[in-house]
Formats: sequence, C-alpha cells, structure tokens
Amino acid sequence: MKSIAIDGPSGAGKSTLAQMTAKKLGFNYVDTGAIYRTVAWFLTMRGADLQQADEVEAALPDAKIEITYDEGGAQHMLLNGEDVSGKIRTPEVSAAASKVAAMACVRAFLLQMQRDVAAAYDVVMDGRDIGTVVLPDAKVKIFLTASDEVRAQRRLAELQAKGEKADFETVLQQMHERDRKDIEREIAPLRCAEDAVILDTTHLSLEQSEEMILVFIEEILKG
Ligand code: C5P
Repeated sequence: MKSIAIDGPSGAGKSTLAQMTAKKLGFNYVDTGAIYRTVAWFLTMRGADLQQADEVEAALPDAKIEITYDEGGAQHMLLNGEDVSGKIRTPEVSAAASKVAAMACVRAFLLQMQRDVAAAYDVVMDGRDIGTVVLPDAKVKIFLTASDEVRAQRRLAELQAKGEKADFETVLQQMHERDRKDIEREIAPLRCAEDAVILDTTHLSLEQSEEMILVFIEEILKG
C-alpha cells in the first residue's frame, strides 16, 4: 500500500489539499485531526476530567470510533454508531482535542487505528505526527506551513462560512495556543520529519499548492 503523509500546523491547508490530492490519485483521504476531535467529543460528553489521565484511560475502551466516506469522498466520523462529523468542528472541541492529544493513553489508543487504515488502503493521511510517528515509512512526506496571519484568516473564513460568529484576534490567539501545545508536548510533538519536503502556502492559491503537491508526488511515486 502507498502512503502520503501531510503534516503541519492548523490552518495550513492540510485537510483541503490532502482531500483534493487523494481524489486525484484515487487514494483514501484520512483526516487524523477528526479522530482526535471525536475522542475529545466523546470524553466531553462523558464528563471526563481531561486533567485526569486515569479517568480518560478508563473511558477510552467505550469509544467505538469508525471512519466512513460519503459519495463525494468526504470523511465522516462515527462514534458508537452516531455520525458526529458536524459536532466536532467547534472551537471548544478544537481546544479539547489539543488537550487530549497530549495524553499518552489517547495517542496509544489511536496509533494502531491509523496504521490499520494505511495498511488496508492507499492513503493520503494528514495530521501532526504522520510522517514522524504514525507512518515513518510513508513514500511521500509533505510538511505544510503558512504565516500565522494567513492561517488564522483561513480558519476565520471556515468558521464564518458555517455561519459562526468569530473574530480574527480570537481565532489567531486560539490557533497560537493549539500550535504551542502541539509543538511542546512530549509525545509525538508537531515537527517536520527529516525526510519531508516543506511547502509554504502563504502566497499560494489552493490551486497552485495542489499543483505543486501533485507534481512532487508524481515524481517520487514514479522514481
Ligand atoms: O487538524 P485538527 O485541527 O482537526 O486537529 C485537532 C487537534 O488534534 C490538533 O490541535 C492536535 O492537537 C491534534 N492532532 C494531533 N495529531 C494528529 C492530528 C491532530 O495531535 N495527527
């Protein structure tokens, strides 16, 4: 099976570009952030204290998490049979996800699940630690970045498109906080794999970024 790992901070365009790339190549798209969000949603609904690792670890076996795709290729997250894809896209769940993502028991719980998907299908998988930890042997590794301002602007546009009230300063500040947690955590921190190619999308349109990614992937896959 072939794997393409796309990592980077929030708002760098990972999800959109990974999804487009997967569609072009006929690979399965796997948004691993959505998996962490689903765990965060599950624990919040449970009323688990996210500061208490024991409590979180004891609750995890009750979370049956499945990934499905609709006809358009969009990923849906099922939690104990319920589609929670819409519920996990709020700023509150984002903050909870970055908290639970720092916990060893949560990362261990999700690691095999991510590897199993990549063992069963050709995948374009996006996240924070795909090239470094989840799929260190991925054929292609891309690290996407963009300036803080551009990333916050993209997040803001996403939230506004969903009809949510949000302002630039708050989005920027929440993004900094999540980035800081992802970079500073002990287990599987956000960092660029040594063998990844870095793509800064600050001054690139979506189409230009996609074009560059596809050219790069084609070169590696045929070489
Ligand atoms: O990508 P997204 O913003 O949906 O991810 C939500 C959170 O899940 C991130 O802030 C990060 O803390 C965590 N995450 C992670 N490792 C991944 C994917 C996401 O720690 N591979």
